[in-house]
Order: sequence, then C-alpha cells, then structure tokens
Amino acid sequence: MVRIMAEPDEPVGPPITLVNPIDMSKLDTKFREEIQSMPNGEELSACFACSTCTAACPIANIWEYKPHQLIRMILLGMREEVLSSDEIWLCLTCFQCQERCPQKVRVTDIFFDCKNLAAEDGKVPPNIVGLGKELLEKGQLYIVTADWEREDMGLEPEVPGLLVDPVKKILTETRTKKLVEGGE
Ligand code: SF4
Ligand code: SF4
Repeated sequence: MVRIMAEPDEPVGPPITLVNPIDMSKLDTKFREEIQSMPNGEELSACFACSTCTAACPIANIWEYKPHQLIRMILLGMREEVLSSDEIWLCLTCFQCQERCPQKVRVTDIFFDCKNLAAEDGKVPPNIVGLGKELLEKGQLYIVTADWEREDMGLEPEVPGLLVDPVKKILTETRTKKLVEGGE
C-alpha cells in the first residue's frame, strides 16, 4: 500500500525554520499598482522570477536583496522594505538587468521610480542627501583639476564649456533643494 502521509508520531526530521518570513500584515496591496501606474511599470506583472536580471547585475553579489528579489517584493507589496532598502540607491544604472530581461520589465527604471517614491517619503540615505547638497552649492560633484596641473598636461586652464551657475540655478528651483533641506 502506498503511504501518502507520515504518521503523527513518526520522526520527520528537524522542524522547518523560515528565514525572514514575510509579515503579511505589513504588505501594501496598492504598491504594485502604484509602480505599475508609472510610465516604467507597465510590464512589472510579467516578471516570472527567472533571475536573469540578477545574473546580469555586476554588483548583485553584494546586495542583500537582489534585483529579481526587489521586483518580487514590489509585486508582493513590500513597500516599506523596498523604499527603505539601500539597494535602490546602490544601483549603478548600468541597465544590464533591463536589457536582458526576457519579459521586458524595466528593472532599472523601476528602481528609479522607487527612488523617487522614497524621496517623497523622506527616505533618502544621508550620503545621497550630501551629494545633493554638494551639487546645489557647487553645481558639480568633482573638483576640477587645478589650473597648474591642467597646464602641466597641456590643457587649457579653464575647462571649456563648464558652466556651474545654470546647474545651480536649475537645482535650486527644482526638488533637489527641497530634498537637501528636508522639505519632502
Ligand atoms: S529578468 Fe525580468 S522576468 Fe526575470 S526575474 Fe528579472 S525582472 Fe523578472
Ligand atoms: S542597472 Fe542596477 S540593478 Fe540593473 S544590473 Fe545595473 S546595477 Fe544591477
């Protein structure tokens, strides 16, 4: 006779322990729709968790949540975890994941949408705010090589076409200023 169930008192091995079980009470059922309603989210539901995006990502090995897991978390409604994750800010924007997705999920662009939502929720990491502040104040992120060094290298003393004032003006009049000052 074929037995399809273990007897109750029969040893069945060690109890199964769930690693980081999902707290269903914290799921936001609207999160998937929120992302899907954005211009990049149309194909989100087509994700079949193949992990190709993660295989293509050059830095996924150092991420706690891999790209395919983040997409799955969005689909499940794990808004808090996704928008609070470091990974969306660590993304290099190399588009390797998006280029290779067989389902045309716009993975990189969706992570941009997540960053925008995180910013609206005031969840921007301090180092990113620091970069915004630097941009706002200086109009650029990197210090241009000193005049004498440029001269030594046979370059013009001034970097041609480098106009920081218009950049500063644009950033001041846009949401970067609010972001830096904690206005949103
Ligand atoms: S490659 Fe596309 S379909 Fe595959 S897991 Fe990533 S997002 Fe989903
Ligand atoms: S765009 Fe971001 S998530 Fe996609 S492969 Fe590049 S680093 Fe990884």
